[in-house]
Amino acid sequence: MPSYVIPDKCDGCKALDKTACQYICPNDLMVLDKEKMKAYNQDPAMCWECMCCVKICPVQAMELRGYADFMPLNGMVTPMRSSDSILWTIKFRNGTLKRFKFPIRTTPEGSAVPDGGFASGSDDLKSPLLFTEPESTKCAELPSL
Ligand code: SF4
Ligand code: SF4
Repeated sequence: MPSYVIPDKCDGCKALDKTACQYICPNDLMVLDKEKMKAYNQDPAMCWECMCCVKICPVQAMELRGYADFMPLNGMVTPMRSSDSILWTIKFRNGTLKRFKFPIRTTPEGSAVPDGGFASGSDDLKSPLLFTEPESTKCAELPSL
């Protein structure tokens, strides 16, 4: 089931130019009602339940009823992020609560090197080579069609 906003919790991200859920949704589904200062999912049928909006909402105002392989049937799941971990609260339909905390990174924020130190490859969009190839493959040259 797609994500949805709990209106009582949503504060419209305090009138920022773009709310956190609008910023993160890869499908541009989240919209802010500027009169009510509440966000909503404008086309739930297009939501692929990626959980990005649920994870980024700073006040846990978004929820999603996921599939049974991810969470208990008819249960609810609420993630709470911190700088080094994420705490998942699972609510079973009988009211039982379980919490799981996982580390989300092993290196300091901002320390990731996108190209891994390899030279970036061709900027020719028609090239079959991927970013950092051929250097990252340790081949001087890659075969192409
Ligand atoms: Fe509301 Fe959360 Fe979206 Fe901000 S991120 S607008 S608080 S639902
Ligand atoms: Fe967009 Fe993913 Fe949230 Fe659905 S779950 S509204 S696709 S961010």
